[in-house]
Amino acid sequence: MEKRRRVAEITDKLERGEGVVITADELCNRVRSGEDIGFEDVDVVTSATCGVMSGTFAVLSFKVAERDEFERASNVLLNGVPAFVGPCPNERLGIVDLMVYGTSHRDNRYGGGHLFRDLVSHEEIELVVETIDGRRIETTTALKEMPFAKLCSTRNAFKNYYAFVNAHENEVTSIFSVDPFKGACKEVTFSGCGELNPLEKDPFMETIGIGTRILMNGAVGFVIGEGTRSSPEKPNLMGIAEMHGMIPEYLGGFRTSAGSEVLNSWAVPIPILNEHVLETTKRLDGEIKLLVLDVHTRLPVGEITYDDVWRDGDLSVRFDASKCIDCEECQVTSLCPTGAFDVLAKEVNEALCCNCGACVRFCQGGAFYCNLGFVTLFGREIPVTLRQSDRKKAAKLAEMLKRKILNGDFILTEPVSRL
Ligand code: SF4
Ligand code: SF4
Repeated sequence: MEKRRRVAEITDKLERGEGVVITADELCNRVRSGEDIGFEDVDVVTSATCGVMSGTFAVLSFKVAERDEFERASNVLLNGVPAFVGPCPNERLGIVDLMVYGTSHRDNRYGGGHLFRDLVSHEEIELVVETIDGRRIETTTALKEMPFAKLCSTRNAFKNYYAFVNAHENEVTSIFSVDPFKGACKEVTFSGCGELNPLEKDPFMETIGIGTRILMNGAVGFVIGEGTRSSPEKPNLMGIAEMHGMIPEYLGGFRTSAGSEVLNSWAVPIPILNEHVLETTKRLDGEIKLLVLDVHTRLPVGEITYDDVWRDGDLSVRFDASKCIDCEECQVTSLCPTGAFDVLAKEVNEALCCNCGACVRFCQGGAFYCNLGFVTLFGREIPVTLRQSDRKKAAKLAEMLKRKILNGDFILTEPVSRL
């Protein structure tokens, strides 16, 4: 008979200090080394993913003026990023309710994702409010002045994603490249944290459902449903979390050659409720398919696995200041998608850097190093030039979730409804 347990049994065990929690990384490394891990050996596996995630927006509500100073707001800019005013009009209350899309932008270097990060970093934000009666209020604000600030996602935490090539000769701009995507098939970019990914660990959503408590960018949040265009073959999740308490290093803006995108992170606990769930959590990179799509048609031109892109790759990008040749124009400064490199200080801001590896190709002095690997397609090796997922931060977040569960700072929830 199949062994089973309920979430309540696991939480009781955790309260008694007897629960066993391991990260997906630890579990997979133990499986790879040949260890036989049984149902009695683990109660919870913590999974995580960190990367570019479209479909993210913030809902903010805060005071901008005294009562009756204006009737309604018509346009609002936060650090120059346009917000959508409403859905609540808040007539004459001096309060604005706003939605800010992660993909809205001020210019090609600063967008909604950058704004979200500045907010959770408690930076001062320049605020412009235009009103329907022609007034213009210019002031500053900050997250601490926003009693309501939530991050919502309409399509996050995909069950991994795709790799891309440009199958045509001409270069194209794309959200899957940082500079124009080179063709024909001269480079590969990809997304997905492979064997650490939450929906890869629970592909049949036996444990993840509506109401599952998660960490979104380090703060407690909840799964609220399936995301847009989610399908059994390519599921993704919709979620919501309080922005107060998010950790800046797990979110931000990511500049692509086709505009601003958002970096987000999810950590999801997978309670081992039965032996089948245990088996799915053991899936390794080599068992997880990664389709290679042509960026034009979005149709497959090849198939590899996450082992091909993560097996030999370095998780971190290293910078050696002694190799910097002080170019007239630093390409890394111009093109780093997160703005993590400071050429004057000769420093990489590790909290901003998402280990995408783009700088390795851009740096004319060879001062950046990271083995991003090659993918064999059409009988030849094609270099990986960009990773839009940060597996190092995903592993760190899964470890954080594990610690929080063991310390009693994060309580597992039973979904209120299956997806
Ligand atoms: S890996 Fe390089 S290009 Fe990518 S975010 Fe870090 S410094 Fe910037
Ligand atoms: S491109 Fe590389 S070598 Fe040139 S200034 Fe920038 S970091 Fe230095």
